[in-house]
Amino acid sequence: MVNSEFLNGFTNKKDSIQKMIEVLQEKGLGEKGVQYKMKDWAFNRQRYWGEPIPIIHCPHCGLVAVPYEELPLRLPEMSQFEPGTDGESPLAKVDSFVNCKCPKCGGDAKRETDTMPQWAGSSWYFLRYIDPKNNQVFADKDALKYWMPVDWYNGGMEHVTRHLIYSRFWYRFLYDLGEVPYIEPYQKRTAQGLILGPDGEKMSKSKGNVVDPNEVVNVYGADVLRLYALFMGDYEKAAPWSENGVKGCKRFVDRIWNLLEMVKDGDGYSSDLEAAFHRTIKKVSEDYETLKYNTAIAAMMTLLNAIYDKGSITRGELKTFITLLNPIAPHVTEEIWQQMSYGGMLNETSWPTYDEAKCVESTVEIVVQVNGKIRGHLMIETDAEQDVVLNMAKAEEKVAAALEGKTIVKELYIKGKLVNIVVK
Ligand SMILES: [Zn+2]
Repeated sequence: MVNSEFLNGFTNKKDSIQKMIEVLQEKGLGEKGVQYKMKDWAFNRQRYWGEPIPIIHCPHCGLVAVPYEELPLRLPEMSQFEPGTDGESPLAKVDSFVNCKCPKCGGDAKRETDTMPQWAGSSWYFLRYIDPKNNQVFADKDALKYWMPVDWYNGGMEHVTRHLIYSRFWYRFLYDLGEVPYIEPYQKRTAQGLILGPDGEKMSKSKGNVVDPNEVVNVYGADVLRLYALFMGDYEKAAPWSENGVKGCKRFVDRIWNLLEMVKDGDGYSSDLEAAFHRTIKKVSEDYETLKYNTAIAAMMTLLNAIYDKGSITRGELKTFITLLNPIAPHVTEEIWQQMSYGGMLNETSWPTYDEAKCVESTVEIVVQVNGKIRGHLMIETDAEQDVVLNMAKAEEKVAAALEGKTIVKELYIKGKLVNIVVK
């Protein structure tokens, strides 16, 4: 954006690109367009399991489409699914399928024996989920209107430049035919990060860094595996596997199990843990909705520490705690639920609610300054009166030392933040 005539002085990439397009269009040298990072799609496979391609090869007419009335073209029954030695599709071995008449000239012809790739079905499978038993159309129009578009589509990053584009392309084609009601298939898209090997590299058999989840389940249990997979990092970012991290999650699950030995009567929250419980319910509920599982788990770990510091937990507190954890560690929490005889199944109970007013920290750390210089820190009740706070501040050892032999000119308390004492 320097020494470039009409672009001189631009400071923003987007604006300068726009200007460049305008100039190119004015001069007739080019025009604005969207370039999709779409990759070529080899659409035929030499295997049995796939949708047959409804095309007939006629020696006279060339490629002829199977007539509409004969659709859907079904796979023939067979028991040998291996491709031929010459690499031919398994279907090529079924004469009754291959040999047919040309729909155009009526002469002898042969069917296409390659099948469609799995991406063909995966481009529009979700439309069939809407109305799976309909034998007239792939889905009823009213049902499509009700369920589509998909609210939230989660999948791997590797789908971004392939499956998602094909799927959208497929859907738009159906839209143009008037078969689906809305122009876009998906409203929201997220992708989970890849779990890397312990060496930080992508897992692969050749590198020998593959972690088998079945082995982790055998050693630590499914709850620990689930917990760790969700705790190991930001949901959308790649993260390396760590055996120590797994062990940490195992300790967390063990400590939750051991809560059974600390239970006291009482359906409500104890006064010293009430705020912590309300805050944790709020945090975990919000984090689950936004896929921030790692911070939700961290909040539950913090609460568990507070419970252990106290040394006991009420029946009501334990009930809330295991309900919050249940989506992540369903087995151990359901077992605790049964041991505690809360009644019914935990996974069918209602989600705990919180009171916003009770979420505020009941204590806060403030700074104490003398003549603008920090002399100490003080833990106070958030709603403590100014007189109380000032007295506590002046009693702090280092503050008291700084005040010794001086005259206090002014005392200032900024609620929940700091005390400043001006002396001469
Ligand atoms: Zn023909």
